[in-house]
Amino acid sequence: MRRVYTAATLPEAHLIRQLLESAGINARVFNENAQGAIGELPVTDAWPDVWIVQNHQFHAARAVIERYEASSEDELLCNSCGEISPGSFEVCWQCQAVLPTQA
Ligand SMILES: [Zn+2]
Repeated sequence: MRRVYTAATLPEAHLIRQLLESAGINARVFNENAQGAIGELPVTDAWPDVWIVQNHQFHAARAVIERYEASSEDELLCNSCGEISPGSFEVCWQCQAVLPTQA
């Protein structure tokens, strides 16, 4: 097991996991429940982490994530609830409304 990504939000962590699995890389999300139980932990320890199962896939996983990061610099504003979603999302993470397509 090896950590490949620390996401700012749980939906982002799951998106990364899906991208990795679609590339044939077994991945897991940890700290899923941390947002409700931050308590005395440093905030960064409570962010959701994406881990890969096979350490030898680390470089392939990083390549997937770098492509994701390059494509997600733009953020999308949901017309329905006003939340910001990464530009690679097709629906709002908050309310599942279809997001406007990028210019
Ligand atoms: Zn929304």
